[in-house]
Amino acid sequence: MKAIVIGSGVGGLAMAIRLAVKGYEVHVFEKNGTTGGKIGEIRRDGFRFDTGPSLLTLPSLLDELFLLAGRKRDDRLPLVRLDMLCRYFYEDGTEIDAWSEPRRFAAEVEQKPGRTPGMSSVTWTSAGPSTSSRPIFSLSLPAQGTQLPPAQGGPGHPPLSPGRCLPEHAPAQHAPLPGSPRCPALRPLRHLQRVRPHRAPATLNLIAHLEHNLGAYLPATGMREAIRALEVLARELGVHFHLNSRVEEILTSGRRVRGIRVGGGVESCDRLVSDADIHHLYRDLLPGKPAPAFSMDKLSSSALIFYWGVRGHHPRLEVHNILFSTDYKAEFRSIFNERTLFQDPTVYLYLSSRVVPGDAPGDGENWFAMINVPPDTGQDWTGLVNRAREHILDKIRRMLSIDLRDRIVCEDVQAPPDIEQATLSWKGALYGQNSNSPFAAFLRHPYRHRTLHNLHFVGGSVHPGGGIPLCLASAAIADREFDPVSPNPTDP
Ligand code: FAD
Repeated sequence: MKAIVIGSGVGGLAMAIRLAVKGYEVHVFEKNGTTGGKIGEIRRDGFRFDTGPSLLTLPSLLDELFLLAGRKRDDRLPLVRLDMLCRYFYEDGTEIDAWSEPRRFAAEVEQKPGRTPGMSSVTWTSAGPSTSSRPIFSLSLPAQGTQLPPAQGGPGHPPLSPGRCLPEHAPAQHAPLPGSPRCPALRPLRHLQRVRPHRAPATLNLIAHLEHNLGAYLPATGMREAIRALEVLARELGVHFHLNSRVEEILTSGRRVRGIRVGGGVESCDRLVSDADIHHLYRDLLPGKPAPAFSMDKLSSSALIFYWGVRGHHPRLEVHNILFSTDYKAEFRSIFNERTLFQDPTVYLYLSSRVVPGDAPGDGENWFAMINVPPDTGQDWTGLVNRAREHILDKIRRMLSIDLRDRIVCEDVQAPPDIEQATLSWKGALYGQNSNSPFAAFLRHPYRHRTLHNLHFVGGSVHPGGGIPLCLASAAIADREFDPVSPNPTDP
């Protein structure tokens, strides 16, 4: 039985491994010269930068892939659990250290002077539970991250509350979570998930549970290492990689896919899995077939990232840092309604060299400076990139007292059109459809095609959603549709 996977993003690699374990002859076709899609890297002048994700949650989903293949993830992909998730900086000078350990984080928030509006009204406590005052997070959670809490919640973890928004959802019996509306100063924390905090589904409260209770991680030698480890595993299982091979068309016959057109030739297959962006798939690879309605209004945000090799060390910064905007609601309006750059964007700084010393020369640091921006609708990106660069550098000088302009020794930049060109993600959107409605999670494209019975989908633009853990989960979901292949076709 021959299976083809289109695209080698993390979802495609996970699917290739699962199919190889089940006995399929697996061929991955990838348009780029390297695997990994959005999880890329840049090396320049002695600096190394992860170009995409910088935080890993639910590593149990990776463990599962290695275990399926009879290997241990720890031996091949050691992870560092981060003590501090992020250092938050506010314009009024307030700094909050988001410790991974929940009680420590609670204590940190309680101790802060409360100059940021809303901080003084926070009534969190790290003391023992009572009806009106419970710990923010309980430590007595199930050890296995793949187990979801019940819709009504349970002891110590947030209710999933499908169909409700974050701000509506702050039930009295549950203490507030970081980013929840009961603590206004922490509301903007949902920036990391790139959703509108006041519109997003309450289910996203679960992210705080993943980060604080189950832990946030980084591979010991940077995020890109996760892709290398998965590719090596796939090759060991016999997966064939066809790099620099852009699939041009999916060939069908009746209610089945019969193969793909690639490099001017035809590759036949019994099963096809696409890790490509779902919009690109319908528009370019299956042009004659009915497609779901795609709307720009439903697209997730994109990102504008500067990769700066910087001279010197800046101990005030952690691995992950956020410099908040003073008006996050206006910022999201600007991204999703006006489709332009906000005048005072929130800035995310990621310095992997803090935990991966080889990522920068001894006297330097690798700064990944990112702002959320709208997807590409034909804006003047050259002008916007120049404007954003000045805003970011000004904000860093104002809030951190660091004048970076004369410390940058090398620079690279990635804007939405670059993300689209590199990964064929529609308009450079990071997560396909956005999560700005309580029902967004239920409206994502399903994991199989409605009429073509042997066509399945994985990756960030389909169910259950974007981000590394959900892409890995998408492969686990699609995998249920595949029976193991008998080594001898005459066996029952
Ligand atoms: P993609 O990475 O989208 O890759 C798809 C692959 O398919 C590409 O390699 C593409 O070349 C290939 N392809 C497409 N069409 C064809 C074709 N016709 N023929 C051949 N090949 C094709 N997630 C997190 O969990 N944590 C984070 O901190 C985080 N931060 C992010 C920051 C940035 C800047 C970006 C860009 C993303 C971030 N994400 C984060 C999101 C995460 O990277 C993605 O959700 C995930 O990597 C997407 O994986 P995927 O399987 O959908 O494939």
